Amino acid sequence: MTTLPILEATAAAALPRGAAEPAAVARHRAALPPRHLADLDLLGRRAAVVAMGEREFRAEQLSHHYFGRLMRDPEGMTDIPADARARLATALLPSLLSPVRELACDGGATRKTLWRLHDGSLVESVLMGYPDRVTVCVSSQAGCGMGCPFCATGQAGLTRNLSTAEIVDQVVWFAGLAASGAVAGLPPRLSHVVFMGMGEPLANYPRLLEAIRRLIAPVPAGLGLSRRHVTVSTVGLVPAMNRLAAEDLGLTLALSLHAPDDDLRDELVPVNQRWKVAEVLQAAWDYAARTGLRVSIEYAMIRDVNDQPWRADLLGRLLAGRLAHVNLIPLNPTPGSRWDASPKPVEREFVRRLRAAGVPTTVRDTRGREIDGACGQLAASEVEPLGAGGERLRSGSRVRKAEQ
Ligand code: SAH
Ligand code: SF4
Repeated sequence: MTTLPILEATAAAALPRGAAEPAAVARHRAALPPRHLADLDLLGRRAAVVAMGEREFRAEQLSHHYFGRLMRDPEGMTDIPADARARLATALLPSLLSPVRELACDGGATRKTLWRLHDGSLVESVLMGYPDRVTVCVSSQAGCGMGCPFCATGQAGLTRNLSTAEIVDQVVWFAGLAASGAVAGLPPRLSHVVFMGMGEPLANYPRLLEAIRRLIAPVPAGLGLSRRHVTVSTVGLVPAMNRLAAEDLGLTLALSLHAPDDDLRDELVPVNQRWKVAEVLQAAWDYAARTGLRVSIEYAMIRDVNDQPWRADLLGRLLAGRLAHVNLIPLNPTPGSRWDASPKPVEREFVRRLRAAGVPTTVRDTRGREIDGACGQLAASEVEPLGAGGERLRSGSRVRKAEQ
């Protein structure tokens, strides 16, 4: 594992006010960031530049630089006159994400970035490079209010929703990194986005939807990703799942089930007390029927909690014949947790039983484990300056190996 340079200077520059006050206070201001072009569709961007006294087509030019060339430095936008460039960039390309720390593992093919937002909130995103694709796992909220007890993000509660542009900018930033060739041996084009970082995407529905529209709209309106390559992972907010199905966007859906029975799911996924297993699965099948796409059923394997053979059989009965596959996730234990990952033989037996029931099943690789970078296992910790150059980790989360 390598620790990439800590971009303290950038982080400090973003904190002229926050530096003087505890970060926890800054976080609770919970204000949305300044407007960014990714918050607006192309029509909105045209209106914004005209309102500034600029020609309408400057919106296309600016958008092409941001979404097409993955460039955000106005100096490089030489088709726009220099004075207009600076004004347009100030108004429509404010800096939203300041990298605080970057970690890499798997020979550089997995990279996690901790971002500080304008109000001091911290979120993380992860790039995962494979020979045939580049995936970014993005956050939709700072923290999460769903309280799943095995999840590091859930432990700290919700700070705030991310804005549309704060979501989009995570993807555009990594698309730029992939295109720059900085990650050797990977395809240069970011192709997949999974909403499996911090937060419950469907709890931030309007901004999530706008962000997805930006991701799939062709350049210069957006990034031009394939809609199927965008995966929304949800804890199971049934009305929002139905609403997403009705949008007919053709996105891939992942449902975090984690237990086939209400008794256990009520505990592992507290929102189950509101929408039960049967309801949440019905919403998944409705989604699959409407889109024709297989739903991914996510199931964290927790030793002696949800990994019994009878639960595999029950899950198999619930899913057999459905447009679904199961993705088992070896639990990544959170600090102080009484839970651990299932032993491999138990996991293998679980897989065997599901497959015997005719349910396609895979076990998620543990990419990014070393840097707590596996999807859904993100918990921001921050580095607080302690006098002259000293550093201390605040929790939220465990001390990372890279910094011990
Ligand atoms: N809130 C959404 C998306 C973010 S979590 C959701 O819950 O689906 C992404 C995935 O990581 C979810 O399936 C989640 O249950 C899983 N996850 C969270 N914490 C985990 C942990 N400690 N070990 C394994 N998987 C975890
Ligand atoms: Fe939130 Fe998903 Fe974590 Fe549950 S698993 S607390 S919904 S991020």
